[in-house]
This record gives sequence, C-alpha cells and structure tokens, in this order.
Amino acid sequence: MKAIRRFTVRTVLPESIAPLSRLARNLRWSWHRPTEQLFADLNPQAWETVHGDPVKLLGSLTREEIQQIAEDPATVRRIEELDADLECYLTDELWYQKTQTEDAPRAIAYFSAEYGVTSVLPQYSGGLGILAGDHLKSASDLGVPVVGVGLFYQHGYFKQSLSRDAWQQESYPVLDPDGMPLALLREKDGTPARITLPLPNGRSLSAQIWRADVGRVPLLLLDSDIPDNDDHARSVTDRLYGGGGDHRLQQELLLGMGGIRALRTFSRLTGAPAPEVFHCNEGHAGFLGIERIAELMDPADGSEPLTWDEALASVRSATVFTTHTPVPAGIDRFERAQIEHFFNAGLAPAVPTANVLSLGAEDYDDGDPSKFNMAVMGLRLAQRANGVAKLHGVVSRGMFRGLWPGFDEDEVPIGSITNGVHVMTWIDPRMAELALDPMGSDLNRAARWRRIYGVDDAELWAVRRELRTRLVEDVRARLRASWKKRGLADAELGWTDSVLDPGVLTIGFARRVPTYKRLTLMLRDPQRLKKILLDPERPVQLVVAGKSHPADEQGKRLIQDLVRFTDDPEVRHRIVFLPNYDIAMARTLFPGCDVWLNNPLRPLEACGTSGMKAALNGGLNLSVLDGWWDEMYDGQNGWAIPTADEGAHPDERDDIEAAALYELIENHVAPRFYGETGDASEPGTDVVPHQWLAMVRHTLATLGPRVSAKRMLEDYVRDLYVPAAVSGRRAAEDGHAAARAKSRWIGRVRQAWGQVSVEHVDTEGVAQDPQIGDELSVCAYVTLGSLAPEDVCAEIGYGRVSETDHIHERKYATLRPTGDLGGGRHKFCGTITVDRSGPFGYTVRVLPAHPHLADKAELGLVANA
Ligand SMILES: *Cc1c(COP(=O)(O)O)cnc(C)c1O
Repeated sequence: MKAIRRFTVRTVLPESIAPLSRLARNLRWSWHRPTEQLFADLNPQAWETVHGDPVKLLGSLTREEIQQIAEDPATVRRIEELDADLECYLTDELWYQKTQTEDAPRAIAYFSAEYGVTSVLPQYSGGLGILAGDHLKSASDLGVPVVGVGLFYQHGYFKQSLSRDAWQQESYPVLDPDGMPLALLREKDGTPARITLPLPNGRSLSAQIWRADVGRVPLLLLDSDIPDNDDHARSVTDRLYGGGGDHRLQQELLLGMGGIRALRTFSRLTGAPAPEVFHCNEGHAGFLGIERIAELMDPADGSEPLTWDEALASVRSATVFTTHTPVPAGIDRFERAQIEHFFNAGLAPAVPTANVLSLGAEDYDDGDPSKFNMAVMGLRLAQRANGVAKLHGVVSRGMFRGLWPGFDEDEVPIGSITNGVHVMTWIDPRMAELALDPMGSDLNRAARWRRIYGVDDAELWAVRRELRTRLVEDVRARLRASWKKRGLADAELGWTDSVLDPGVLTIGFARRVPTYKRLTLMLRDPQRLKKILLDPERPVQLVVAGKSHPADEQGKRLIQDLVRFTDDPEVRHRIVFLPNYDIAMARTLFPGCDVWLNNPLRPLEACGTSGMKAALNGGLNLSVLDGWWDEMYDGQNGWAIPTADEGAHPDERDDIEAAALYELIENHVAPRFYGETGDASEPGTDVVPHQWLAMVRHTLATLGPRVSAKRMLEDYVRDLYVPAAVSGRRAAEDGHAAARAKSRWIGRVRQAWGQVSVEHVDTEGVAQDPQIGDELSVCAYVTLGSLAPEDVCAEIGYGRVSETDHIHERKYATLRPTGDLGGGRHKFCGTITVDRSGPFGYTVRVLPAHPHLADKAELGLVANA
C-alpha cells in the first residue's frame, strides 16, 4: 500500500528526559563521543537500525521504551550531566572570546554549496563539503561567531553501489527534512519564513530556510521544495551540482543572493548580529556579493544609495574568497547570455546587468569572451583571497595572473591558508586517549600532542592493531553486503569472512575519482602489485574506495578496472574496493590504515585532507609531494613518491611514478613495518616494530597540531577575518563615507593611469667593482599626469638577477618624492644597500597607493620602468 500523504509525528518526551531532544538536535553529538554513546546505550539495537542517528532513534522508540528510560535514575542523571555539559559548551568564553580584541568581527557569514557535518545530514559530495563541515565545527569549538549558509538538497549526493560487472550504480534516496536534525525558521506568527527571487517570464523562486545547529554555529539551508513554487522551481535544490546550465545557475543564485536574504531574515527573527565579514568558500556562492551591492544601491532603510563603484568598494572590503581548484576545468563557468537572461528578469533591479557581467568577464589573454567565470567574479568581489595550501597558492597565482597584468606571478594578491581537519571528528577515541593530553588547551595546541611521547611502544602498537582489526571487521561486513547487491548468495560468500588480516600492513586509498587522482596508478604493473600483496614474508593489503561523478564515464571505467582486479580469487583476500565512500566509512577507514596512499598528478591536488585524517590516527602518509604534503613532509613522518618531469608524456609519467611507488612499498614501507632485521616474523605474529612506531609517534606529535582545523580557523581569523572586519567597518562608517571616497579615488587613478610612466632613472654610487655593503642612491623621474605624489608609491625592486635579467628574491625600498618638476613630472629618490654578491639588479616602478588598499597589486595597476 502506498501512502497518499505523509507527516512526521514528533516524539513527546517526559520532562525528566526532555533534554534528550536538544542533545539529539544539536549536531555537537557527532563529535562528542559521550553524547553519542548515550544515544547508543539507550537502545543498542535500534541505534544500529537507524545507523547512528539520534533524531531517528528517538522517533523509533515506543512509548513504553521512552517511559522506561524516563524512569531509570542512572540514565536520567547521565542526560542531565550531558545537557549541562552542552550548555557550558554553548555559552563558555572560548579561544575567540579570550584572545580577540574589538577589531574582531561580531559575526562571519560562511557560504558553501555543500556541508559534510555528519552522515545523518548527507549534504556533501566530497572534500569541499567535508572541509566546510570541519570549518563550522572548529569555529564552534573556538567560539568564532560563524553562521553557515548553504542549500538543502532533497536527494543530497548519490549513493554508490556496484553492478555484477563492476559498473558504478547511482541511487538518490529522498531525504525527509522533518526527520532530520533541522528546524524550520519561522515568522513570529508560526508560518515558515520565505525568501523569493524573481525569475524570467514572470516566474519566481522561493525557498524556506532550515536551521541546523553545529554546536554554537547556526547553519542555514535554503530549500526550494515548497508548494509556492512551480515544479521547475521546486526542483532547483533537488540534488548537489545537479543538471548543469540553468539548473546549476539557479542553485547558485539561490545560494548567493537567496543566502544573503536568508541571513537578513535570520537576524530579523532571532536578533542575531548582522555578519561583518562574508566568506565565499569557492565560486559557487559568488552572487552573494551582487546581492550586497544591490542592498547598498537600493537601500531599504531610506539611506542615501551608493553608486555601483561605491557599493563595490564597500562590499569588497568585507569579503573573503577561497579558491579550491588548481585546474581551470574545475572552475564554474556560465554563458554570459544566461547571466543576462536571469538578471534582466529583475533579480537586482538597481544593479545594471552590464556591471554584473563585467565582474565575471574573462577579459584577459586566453579568456573566452562568451563566458562568465564564477572564480573571476569571486576574486573581483573580494579584497582578500586565498588558496588552500602553500603550493596551491603558487598554482592559483599563476592561474589567475591575467587579472593582475604587469605584476610578477608571485605578486598576485592570492595568499594561502592550508586546510585542516576537525580533530574530534576524525580521531578515533582510542587514539585520542593515547595521543591527546585531556588537560590541554587551545592556547597551546602543540603541547597537547606531545603526550604521545610518553606512551610506550607496546601500548601504542596494541591500539594501532585494534584500529586495524576494527577496519578489517567493517570491510568484511561491507564487502559481503556489496556482493549480495551484486547478485551472489550467502552460500557463495563464505570467503568474505577471511578477507584481510588484522596483522598485515594495511594501505588505504579513498577519494573521488577524477582522472588526476589516478585511482588505478597502482594497477600500472598488475603482476608487480600482485607480488607485493602476496609476499609471503611481508604481505600488504589494500583498501580502496571512491565515487565517480555520475556523468564521468572515464571515472566509472577506472573503478571497473580496479574492482575487476580485486575480484580475482588469487588476490581478493588482500585487496578490496568498498562502495559508497562517505563519512561513516571514513571514520573507520582512516584510523584502521597503517599507510595512507595518495598519488595525484602534481600539482593538481589543491590540498587533500584525507591524509591528514590518517595522520591524526598515527597513519603514515605515502604520497606525491602535492597539496598539504608538499609543505608538511619532513622525511620522518612518511614517504614522498617522487614525481616525473611535468613535461613528460602522461603514460611515461605514470610508468615512472608507479615504479617509484612499488619500489617504496617493497624496500622501505613493508620492511619498516615488519621490522628491518631481516629475520622477518611470520605475518600475523606481533613483533613490535620500534622504528615504525617512532614514525607514528613523530607523526602524531608534529602533524597533529598542524593539520588541526583549529589551526586553520585561527589562520583565517588572524589573516583574513579580522582585517576584513576592520576594512569593512571603516568602509561603511558615516554612511559609507570611506567607500565613497575610495571609489572616487579609484576612479581618478584609473582614469589618469594611462599617463603615468617612469621616464628615466639616475643612479649614483655604483663603483667600478661594486661590493657588498655599498650604498646605491637612485632617483627616478616620473610622469604622474593629473595624479599627485601622495596618490602613488614609487619603489625600487632589487635582488639577484637571472641570465634573462629577471630579478629573483626581490626586496623593495620606497623612493620619496623630492621635487615637483612641473607639468605633472616629479622626482623620487632613495637608497638601497647592495646586500649580496653575484649578479645583482634593480628596477623602478610606480603603483597606486591608498591606506585602504589591502595589497599593492589590488587595483592591477603598475607603471614599470
Ligand atoms: C576527507 C574526505 C574526503 C576528502 O578527501 P581528499 O583527500 O581531500 O580527497 C572525501 N570524502 C570523505 C568521506 C572524506 O572523509
């Protein structure tokens, strides 16, 4: 029988256990083990059936069961204690309150297209979403006043299974928000709050707003599946990155523009402070800047409207943009005509569509004039921008240098903050007990992790083995379930009970399957891989997982190749592919692996975070020097897979790098794991490998604090959020007086810049054979046209020169204006000291200068000598 109507009946809890409701709804339980354990203990069997979901658990209990819980004094006490603990967690003075001054923002809006907080709120596809989830959790732990904004996808991302012949199958279960840890944002009269965007042809797109509580951090998720909408509008939030074209564009309009409206509604209804900083996590949410410009150009409160340029100056000052992709193909782009079509429908009536188009225009060398580029818009709308690892910062500066012509690549104003992972989500509780000092504080994170140095080898090895054993058990259960789906009967699956061995060196490899991640690099020489797996003395076992984008046939073929290899009876006890990689699997997988493998095509991995999660559990990384590993590999915390020349043919590169990978496993990783004495023990017998454990201990103590997302949050607060709050406030003061002044100044400078040039440079003090320590005095004759010397900075750049006269390891010294020569000509002078031997060179350039510029390259204007 099929129901014609459905609704969710709320569980009414007796008063003595009423706090259970808050404990279930605030997602802090997902990283607070005592709370999670409470729910598990309420009814272990039901807990398993609902896959560890507290809201579903409470919904599944009968009235009798609830009554029983309410009458058990021990449980009631436990609930009270945990509720009191949550109350403290939500209200205590934390790191932010203790360390920050008045400059710090009162609220920060964080926009992301996906969030991976817990497996019970499956609103993520992969790394970007998990990172956003970890960002919110760490903000909560540190007391950073972040509000998250995203979309609620009715189907989330797909679930993966395999067909008999190893082809990826996708399914899209329907999620019922009423049965999830979400609450609808409501008007005072109880009706659901709504935001609405106009669409072309007189249509409109409305959304309701779900609120999730990630500890202290509210997360607002816009949901278009409501009766006010026509069918097309209802399906805008149907699935993550669905459709493409107009569907995707509408998702992004809703996220960015609708997201700002949702924030305003949230503040109006709850009294939450208005955000002072807006963080756009990847380009998808870029339209948030347009909505904020629209607010200033057509103010609802009757204040004086700003012009486009003024509003842009004001909005930029408080916006932070993070780019996550090192490949141009990974960037979101739309047809200009699409953008025109939607904005002409009145999305932001006060904002000229041409100006919106100009923000996303690829009006630089190699750009495509028919495209609207979301990352380019993101960079133009944000005064501060960053990549997600040091190397990714370098790659991003190269990728976007066209936006700052005239500047060297290393001067492109995109910095980097290396991603981190939320420790309490990803560390196994057993490892947390060993590795983390319980009395530690966020004010000295490194000290907390030094605890591991006091743990002896036998104890550490026992815990590592326990984690590996738990993974082996989980793998067996998952493999059996997968084979049943693939059509085998129980009678044919006896062998799955002995798949993997808790005493064997375990290597993990799990990630999405775009080509650059090279899922099948390990299969390059199948015979050699077999030999490694089946080595009688030093066997290796591999656990592999990963989803391919549904439209990516090539990715699915890679999965098929791999699964077919794992299906071979000769090796199937040593290598497995687990379908449906997700947070739940990851939390057993990372702790259980001795080694985490990552072999992307360098430098295409922006950061990568899975290796960090392995490291938190004492896993050693075996990885190409890409993303985070490029800056954190130190020779003792794992292994670096050497990379072939970037110029090499792809096949050749794969051959070289696969051979290097095999060599490392055979000659370094396995010998160290099994003890290097040569008299290798029987596999499965436990000889404690002291050298291996020294690496494990070193990894935990030194990487633990550095890969922590709290370190990442602190970097964001210090380098981006506080500076953005300061400049945003300054821009907005006195009716945006500073923004108006700055935009007038920018207009004047841009207009005059064509006349600015360095005419001539005089140098004194270079002797016949210059020596270190010599002073060089330099005067430049500069034409400024209608600009004044205060509008610019003249500087001398100097340092070692290459054969092509390029100046490396540059330093700068400012030249002071020393005379007005009339006719717009000025003299600037200064001195430098020759501070190195060998080829030395210098040059002079003039840049716009204004106290409200965050970077000297900000306007992209420069006059080089
Ligand atoms: C950490 C994680 C990712 C991202 O891993 P990368 O190393 O960045 O590719 C993807 N999916 C899940 C389930 C994760 O836990």
